[in-house]
Amino acid sequence: MTPLAPPRIPFLAAAFDHRFARRLPGESGPPRQPRQVYGACWSDVPPTPVAEPRLLAWSDDLAATLGLAPPDEAPDIAEVLAGNRLLPGMRPIAACYGGHQFGQWAGQLGDGRAIVLGDLAAPDGARWELQLKGAGLTPYSRRADGRAVLRSSLREFVCSEAMHHLGVPTTRALALVATGEPVVRDMFYDGRPEREPGAVVTRVAPSFVRFGNFEIFAARGDHERLRLLADYVIEQHFPEIDAADPARYAAWFAEVARRTAALMAHWLRVGFVHGVMNTDNLSILGQTIDYGPFGWLDVFDPDFTPNTTDRGGRYAYAQQPGVALWNLQRLAEALAPLLDRPAATAVAGALDGFAGVFAAEWKRQALAKIGLIAADDGEDELTARLLGILTLTEVDTTRFFRALMAVDPAHLPAAGLPAPLLAACYAPDALPAAFVFRLRDWLAAYAARINADGVSDAERRARMATANPRIIPRNYLLQLAIDAAAEGDVAPLSRLLDAIRDPYGDGPDDDPMTALRPEWARHAPGCSALSCSS
Ligand code: AMP
Ligand code: MG
Repeated sequence: MTPLAPPRIPFLAAAFDHRFARRLPGESGPPRQPRQVYGACWSDVPPTPVAEPRLLAWSDDLAATLGLAPPDEAPDIAEVLAGNRLLPGMRPIAACYGGHQFGQWAGQLGDGRAIVLGDLAAPDGARWELQLKGAGLTPYSRRADGRAVLRSSLREFVCSEAMHHLGVPTTRALALVATGEPVVRDMFYDGRPEREPGAVVTRVAPSFVRFGNFEIFAARGDHERLRLLADYVIEQHFPEIDAADPARYAAWFAEVARRTAALMAHWLRVGFVHGVMNTDNLSILGQTIDYGPFGWLDVFDPDFTPNTTDRGGRYAYAQQPGVALWNLQRLAEALAPLLDRPAATAVAGALDGFAGVFAAEWKRQALAKIGLIAADDGEDELTARLLGILTLTEVDTTRFFRALMAVDPAHLPAAGLPAPLLAACYAPDALPAAFVFRLRDWLAAYAARINADGVSDAERRARMATANPRIIPRNYLLQLAIDAAAEGDVAPLSRLLDAIRDPYGDGPDDDPMTALRPEWARHAPGCSALSCSS
């Protein structure tokens, strides 16, 4: 007998609290006046109402986790999710944080357009914060407008939900609301600003605290707030750590480093490039946070970054684990005032150990991509060699690994490559000889390895099916959904949302969600290159 699902309550009747605001020091200065905020983890700021809120998308998967009923037709829900109306218990605030951007200390940043409304308890007791991104000016808006455009909001909504279904730690998204108000953006930074439709995303996470929330207090010498915030985060979000243990900060840092290393391995596995890995965009919970000029690998290219602002490729695909370590070093510096000598030694040890932790996690995930398990017997060489071969021509990363599942490497054609692998190449009729030769050679070594390990084909395929998504929200698919939504047609968005819910399942070969990136999308804005303008 299946147990009865607990009853779900309507969003408008949910019980809200705001622990972060209740437990940590904040301030109530002029809410919409950009300024430096001292001695506070947050500032009171009501959302700025919008003209005509309209619900465009809703994540029923997340709603079920939160114990919330599907939205009814009442327009009130859009009013709340756009920030026009607050529910009892909500207390809107913007958090104060700083950060290192592209390697430089940038001072105070903070929630310039995100407003946390409060938290609510899911049926399992876990507490989740709700945040509106694009809800108007805050003390941290600097010279910007506090708003977000539909294109970037839709991308964040779809991709945070996709990441969740891909099994990658991430903040979630409950709703996407059109504001009915234009937002002016110079998308290409070429002096030609345009009016674009505005939107608000309801982001949901246990916490939105970033490395930068600690850095700002350390930079200002405010060790009292630094300690309060660290103790709060440990107590609320790392219950496995004894909050009274003098060694708690070191244990906590080691756990943050471990989660961050695991996250990097996940990103590499699914072909995700965050695009702006500044320290203000790294979650203290080890989740993917702040979806901006991110992208997915179509062609396998370690140097790929979708972010046109990142000309040096600092945040390119293969750089991400190294950048994560750099960011953890900045976090360790920020926490230094809290550490006694043994704790400082332990934190230094965690930093030294990062490369090893990442390598072990990546090895596990990379081997799963080819259906093997770690035996400490040269398997790493097999995966590293394969990735090197994939750079020799334009191979579609996602399609390639699914195609490899379907291939029997012990029975290759007399010449050339098996048909499924050819179908993962962008120019199958013009493959470089070295690519074909080396891939055949690799397939033979792979077959020998499978044979030596005694891995059955069923086992191999089952393992590969858990590590290699068939469906990712490719950049061009997102762009098609954005173009349609801007014209009032949300059908492509709904189809994409349906597809990303089952990224590893089987499906028809001609599924448009799994097609190679079309040629028109190779250089199209939004598809291969994105600016930070959002
Ligand atoms: P990002 O790197 O995009 O996560 O943002 C860096 C900083 O800029 C954060 O403090 C954001 O809150 C702020 N920011 C970005 N866009 C806006 C905007 N339109 N209005 C106000 N602040 C913004
Ligand atoms: Mg950010």
